[in-house]
Amino acid sequence: MNPFSIAIHGGAGTLLKGQMTSEKEAAYISGLQAALDAGYEILTKGGSALDAVTASVVLLENNPLFNAGKGSVFTAKGHHEMDASVMEGKFLKAGAVSLISGIKNPILLARDVMEKSEHVFLAAEGAKQFAQLLGYPVENEDYFYDEFRFQQWQEIKGSDSFQLDHSIQKESKFGTVGAVACDMSGNVAAATSTGGMTNKKWGRIGDSPVIGAGNYANNTTCAVSCTGSGEFFIRGVVAYDVSCLMEFKGLSLEDAANEVIHHRILKLGGDGGLIAVDALGNIVMPFNTEGMYRGYKKSSGENDVLIYGGA
Ligand code: ASP
Repeated sequence: MNPFSIAIHGGAGTLLKGQMTSEKEAAYISGLQAALDAGYEILTKGGSALDAVTASVVLLENNPLFNAGKGSVFTAKGHHEMDASVMEGKFLKAGAVSLISGIKNPILLARDVMEKSEHVFLAAEGAKQFAQLLGYPVENEDYFYDEFRFQQWQEIKGSDSFQLDHSIQKESKFGTVGAVACDMSGNVAAATSTGGMTNKKWGRIGDSPVIGAGNYANNTTCAVSCTGSGEFFIRGVVAYDVSCLMEFKGLSLEDAANEVIHHRILKLGGDGGLIAVDALGNIVMPFNTEGMYRGYKKSSGENDVLIYGGA
């Protein structure tokens, strides 16, 4: 049996100890642990990495603390436009959706694009029509209303600026969610979901639904899910870059991920982090911000959930 493991993230950014109440901190930690447990449970029963990452991301999408699904940020027009993608590492199959509204779990729709359509990437109204064809209920705007997100939007509404989750000038946090896993058969998978940036307009799309940028999986190398300033992560083709450094330069998972997050993407000006797993169940979670909501659980018995850096 291959060692199996799962890692998740709930976004990276200026997360400094003492900045949030202990109640809020506890809520983040229990939300992350619940999502980890859901995915891990599937892996222990011999389930696939793909099922595990999907299950974890569904729970994170349902948790309003994170900028995905229910907790998605507001667009400039006061709506929600969500992006999500999923990829499995055995056959390199992938599915993605972008600019989705009214769908409770965009990650399930991305997976259906992969499994039930002949396409990889569907967007906006067309993606919604595809969802409705498959019987997805369409939630009204109230489902996605969150007072905290609404206030974030009020701060910059009407301006030309847009923010990555609740970034307030020097304080920034990216709230995208993601999961990567390696199952008992040595198959890896990655899933990523986001509400994008507060006050975004013009159909702005970040890296999260872009295969190779915010999400990638390949059994011969690794599975990766990113969070950070999407424009830079697209330009850096970050997730695929980690895989390439392993495949073509023979770097270890750890060296490849660190090279991309601490050197290559920084050089471009991008900040954020990623989680990655290889087909032996090794996990890395580098970030170049102060903190990143993250956690992992391995068949060796190791389990940790962390928020801040230097831990
Ligand atoms: N990467 C996401 C985006 O640019 C944001 C995030 O990670 O929170 O849409």
